[in-house]
Amino acid sequence: MKSQLPNKRGVSLLNDPLLNKGTAFTDAERDALGLRGLLPPRVSTQAEQVTQALENIRGKSSDLEKYLYLGELQDRNEDLFYRVVMDNLNEMMPLVYTPTVGQGCQKYSHIFRRPRGMFLSSKDRGQFKQILQNWPSEDIRIIVVTDGERILGLGDLGANGMGIPVGKLALYTACAGLRPDQCLPITIDVGTNTQSILDDPLYLGLKQPRLRGPAYDELIEEFITASLERFPKACIQFEDFGNSNAFRLLQKYRDRICTFNDDIQGTAGVVLAGLITSLRLTGGRLADKKFLFLGAGEAGIGIGELIVSALVAEGVPEPTARKQCWFVDSKGLVVASRKDLAEHKLHFAHDHAQVTTLLEAVEALKPTALIGCSAQPQTFTETIVKAMGRINKFPVIFALSNPTSKAECTAEQAYTWTEGRAIFASGSPFPACTINGRTLTPGQGNNAYVFPGVGLGVIACEATRVTDEMFYASAKALDKLVTQEDLAKGRIFPDLQRIREVSVAIAVDVAELAFKRGLTRMKAPADIAAHVKAQMYQPDYPSCV
Ligand code: NAD
Repeated sequence: MKSQLPNKRGVSLLNDPLLNKGTAFTDAERDALGLRGLLPPRVSTQAEQVTQALENIRGKSSDLEKYLYLGELQDRNEDLFYRVVMDNLNEMMPLVYTPTVGQGCQKYSHIFRRPRGMFLSSKDRGQFKQILQNWPSEDIRIIVVTDGERILGLGDLGANGMGIPVGKLALYTACAGLRPDQCLPITIDVGTNTQSILDDPLYLGLKQPRLRGPAYDELIEEFITASLERFPKACIQFEDFGNSNAFRLLQKYRDRICTFNDDIQGTAGVVLAGLITSLRLTGGRLADKKFLFLGAGEAGIGIGELIVSALVAEGVPEPTARKQCWFVDSKGLVVASRKDLAEHKLHFAHDHAQVTTLLEAVEALKPTALIGCSAQPQTFTETIVKAMGRINKFPVIFALSNPTSKAECTAEQAYTWTEGRAIFASGSPFPACTINGRTLTPGQGNNAYVFPGVGLGVIACEATRVTDEMFYASAKALDKLVTQEDLAKGRIFPDLQRIREVSVAIAVDVAELAFKRGLTRMKAPADIAAHVKAQMYQPDYPSCV
């Protein structure tokens, strides 16, 4: 927990977002800490401050303005920021993270006010170790790092991608209680290949083409080594790297350090949970189902690999498990005869005639689930969704691409084209809709159901590795928390307001598994659940006198 007695006084105390309580400093605190006269006279409660903040946020005319206000609040008073976000999660999450964070990144250099997190650039090669000394906290436990190459579905945004690690870590804290002072967002700026960004006179990143090849790998290696030397207990979470690097880096580091890639593994955890939960509506076992993906990138292949792990754990032989997952990429069905396949697609390249369109693939394979992670909007057309509805009593349609503008179809389309029978989930939130008199609330397959809990579990047991088995455990834990009431509303994930409960359940299962597998730096406590809960940050003001 943060220190009760701040080591700062007066204006510097008010300027420290980790310690500042603003108008909620009591009279006694104002006297003791040199604050008398620096604040208006009446002492507010945190609840009153929340009311004021919400009034401001709700009064803004655009989501981007709301995002900016929330960013300023975070920079001013973190306890208040987290109180506002945590108590209004359904409303705040789309502002703090997807979809609004996408706009925040696209405009990053134009709306920049003050820095948050650290920037390491290829210009700083050889100096990462010294630069990391500039970070004020000693005990960092989680680093979220991006190189900005694949920001959501928006492509290469270079250093403008910094909004992602910042927003992601805010979710770690809001959803699972990771301590803000133990979180560090990092952007590694290696340039950008997006011409409009390079041409932008206000762009704040390096104006150079992306570094590639051995020089890039050496830079990442320097980052990993320097980070772990400075913060030896940190878990490093890779976020929004382009897929040519993401898979390689995961392969390279997953058995060497405590790391994971949320786009690959976290996505897989949440989507697998959704698929397991769907079985309660469709009947049958995972082993009986066929999954067709549009998009064979980080999300798609990550989900496919975790489905395979889950099936193998259920006793299905691996080759059979792989044959239940099929992929369509930009060139058509991924089949063994294709000569253009990247390494990560090869394990899912099955023997089959070449098929060029998604519709043909649906008709040929008759999948039970159609999973969109292509960042190609409106690709689940009426004909395709209707075909899924003809093939299945309850077609599983997941349109996961973010932000909302990239979704393969909307919730309303999926429900309308299947007379309300679709089991739908999306990456970005969609409003409830009424079909044939029944109101359906689409589930958001938000990664935030899984990664915060995994992070909390990893920190709580001081894990040395993050394994796929932990993501499978997370998926099962998440499924258990979906109620009959959720299902009746068409929702295959729990209400986001229950996210802390979800995160604790996942963290406990992850920590238990880590202890069981000998992947921790500490001995198992007698009561793992109590130990996990004791780690969690609460955004209540401590008394300072
Ligand atoms: P990626 O760049 O690694 O992969 C995209 C894939 O789509 C590539 O295989 C590409 O070949 C394929 N593709 C491109 N155009 C296509 C077309 N016309 N037809 C078929 N396939 C095509 O990206 P990613 O990390 O896999 O993310 C993809 C999308 O999924 C993004 O929009 C991202 O925001 C979203 N996503 C959602 C969640 C979630 O809902 N929880 C999680 C992660 C990613």
